[in-house]
Amino acid sequence: MAVRVGVFGAGGRMGSTVCRAVAGDPELELVAAIDPHHAGLDLRQVTGVDVPDLDIAPDPTILLEVGAEVVVDFTVVEASRRNLEWVAEHGLHAVVGTTGFTPEDHERLRAAFTRSNCLIAPNFAIGAVLMMRFAEMAAPWFDTAEVIELHHDRKVDAPSGTAMMTVQRMAEASESWSPDPTRDEVLPGARGGVGPGGIRVHSVRLRGLVAHQEVVLGTAGQSLTIRHDSYDRESFMPGVLLAVKQIADRPGLTIGLDTFLGI
Ligand code: NAP
Repeated sequence: MAVRVGVFGAGGRMGSTVCRAVAGDPELELVAAIDPHHAGLDLRQVTGVDVPDLDIAPDPTILLEVGAEVVVDFTVVEASRRNLEWVAEHGLHAVVGTTGFTPEDHERLRAAFTRSNCLIAPNFAIGAVLMMRFAEMAAPWFDTAEVIELHHDRKVDAPSGTAMMTVQRMAEASESWSPDPTRDEVLPGARGGVGPGGIRVHSVRLRGLVAHQEVVLGTAGQSLTIRHDSYDRESFMPGVLLAVKQIADRPGLTIGLDTFLGI
């Protein structure tokens, strides 16, 4: 039996890519698309996905009418908070790609998802998941590190969820980072944002980019650069589809795709 899937943010860039990926997977069935700003439109016109007679719904109640089991959310964090509250209350599973959640959000969601499960992954690209793991492995061997994340010019949050998760994990893997030597920051912000462990994060927004990140680590006489590039939103789809298929077997709240990949 195919897993019945609903998609929040179906009219967005990621949401419409997810609709196409779900519709093209024989183990999944796309049963609902929700997006208040595109409500009432035929999903085919908005996303190009070949599912007849599926109009975009304005709110989540459609999910109960069509018997959705798993919901995918790529929206904006304010909307996602509301969506997830509803999803937890109604016992559906959630796969979330929206970024911008705080540790307090994670705690609230951990308490809310008792009857069903939720994965929040700031990056569904398998190469990016590996990049975070490699950065964590390298951290204890270096004294200094900085993260440069680069995204398209319509991204509304900074730094990216991937950058935040990367520095969090590097800080947990090593406590011995050298202090920043800067005394005079001529242009405020030039040294970037200070993340966990004092690791600096720099956010670049540039037309033409999709999602990219470089982790640069340095110690005496050497540096290591770990770089990942998503050139196309398709890069996130294998991770999203894998998560949709596995989420029913992963109790409670999971942060990051790692455990789903077994790394
Ligand atoms: P986007 O094109 O702006 O899409 C967001 C969509 O959500 C828009 O269609 C928006 O409608 C819609 N929306 C707003 N409120 C909603 C609600 N209450 N219910 C349902 N839909 C709602 O942005 P995007 O590039 O697709 O990115 C979406 C999110 O995914 C961002 O947080 C981004 O950082 C994240 N992302 C994650 C990954 C990952 O691997 N985890 C990868 C890429 C992007 P309007 O535009 O009409 O307001």
